[in-house]
Amino acid sequence: MEFSRARPRRQRCSPLAEVYPFPIQFYEQPPIENVSLQDFENFAVERLKLLKCIETLGVSYIRASEAYNKKLEAEFRKLRFPYRVSSEEKLDEYEIRRKDHISHFILRLAYCQSEDLRRWFIQQELEVFRFRFNELHNKQLEFLKHNKLEYQAIETKEKEDVKMKLAASGGHGSVKIDEWLFYKVPFTDALELVRVRKVFVKNGFAYIPHPEIVIIVLNEFRQRLSKSLAIASRSLPVVQSDERLQPLLNHLSHAYVGQNYSIQKNVGKISLEQIDSLAVKSYPPCMRQLHKTIRDNHHLRHGGRMQYGLFLKGIGLTLEQALQFWKSEFIRGKVEPDKFDKLYAYNIRHSFGKEGKRTDYTPFSCMKIILSNPPSQGDYHGCPFRHSDLELLKQKLQTYKIPPAGIAQILDLVKGMHYQLACQKYFELTHNIDEVGFSLTHPNQYFNESQKLLNSSRDIKRESSQPDNSQWNQGSQATRGASTSASKPTSQVSSSDMDGLEELLSEGYV
Ligand code: SF4
Repeated sequence: MEFSRARPRRQRCSPLAEVYPFPIQFYEQPPIENVSLQDFENFAVERLKLLKCIETLGVSYIRASEAYNKKLEAEFRKLRFPYRVSSEEKLDEYEIRRKDHISHFILRLAYCQSEDLRRWFIQQELEVFRFRFNELHNKQLEFLKHNKLEYQAIETKEKEDVKMKLAASGGHGSVKIDEWLFYKVPFTDALELVRVRKVFVKNGFAYIPHPEIVIIVLNEFRQRLSKSLAIASRSLPVVQSDERLQPLLNHLSHAYVGQNYSIQKNVGKISLEQIDSLAVKSYPPCMRQLHKTIRDNHHLRHGGRMQYGLFLKGIGLTLEQALQFWKSEFIRGKVEPDKFDKLYAYNIRHSFGKEGKRTDYTPFSCMKIILSNPPSQGDYHGCPFRHSDLELLKQKLQTYKIPPAGIAQILDLVKGMHYQLACQKYFELTHNIDEVGFSLTHPNQYFNESQKLLNSSRDIKRESSQPDNSQWNQGSQATRGASTSASKPTSQVSSSDMDGLEELLSEGYV
């Protein structure tokens, strides 16, 4: 791929039909055309949105169910990615296939950098592939042939010989056995099906009914993609030496697709006295843990100071407040004021863009926290859903008074590596709502959504004059719009806590 600053003119009669005969591909060949930097970034961000949406849908719905497919189809349409063979191929259709091709290879470069990134990328890309392959319907064999993946269907005679075995192995009736093609593949290519005893195995070959062929094809896709990512990671130094691409790729690999939670709009809107109560009500677990540690130990290592310091900046602390906050804690931890000024104050000013290169650092997104700089022993930064031992996480959730059923749901999500969804579940449980109604990508987004909810709750309570002091009214789950009565833990929060933030929120920051 070459990159140019100008957007290249495309011919109306493009030869793309030959390059992209199907709305799905194995991405064997990288794009060899010029791509403008603008397209480079836009394509990549749109694909990232699609992959993130797939991740979210995969937990909220049963994969491949009607509801899931419907939602996914809507996302493909909205983000303009190909997924279906159109009855009448249009120029536009080939353009979006081109976008699909290019965007896949860009994200390959961004997501080949670590084991975690590769695993996440492969997982989502497999789902894209699965959905599209199923949408090919009667073009599936043509697509496989085009990609030199021809599975030999067994002859009628052989099928008759093993008909009973085939019927017994997959629980299929004999009518379906007559209807379907069966393919003989080395059983090592069908371990997923063999493991669940869904296929008949004989002489080292598994007999795969046509509806299950997608498993075999996905296996092939996974192997190819995994190998390609390993190769791409070896060429990273060369790519990263390109000063135009390096920041883009770094941003993409740590990107969250959402708002930039910078300091500009809400600076100075909260007081230091509010922080303890806000930590209980509106902090996500990563920040709640850091806040507790600094209060208990009066010290945090560099990773924790960066993660929590930038979050505090994002929720509205001024530089002066930040200096005061950290200094008072460190002094309580027996650090001399002079030493604090020399060793720590510089870093705080630096993170506010007042020292060094004067970069105004933005708070870390979930992706950045989850995927980079994992905590070592003695560190408290990171994401508890990603970086805590399951037993420790369970204990922590118990101390946060999450009910046992909720803890079980959260742990299930964590085991499935859906860390942000686990956090969304935590939000639902701690705010007594059925559905968060947003896709969590950032700790500051968590905070803002929480404040929005709690403030609307207070407004409604004011109107109805029916105060409710319980923190989480576990017995009566309500929908978000109406879930207002239980959200304010007045035992822990002073009544003036939210005054400054209400103004901020009404300014449309969130
Ligand atoms: Fe923090 Fe995001 Fe992890 Fe939640 S998912 S704890 S907001 S890093």
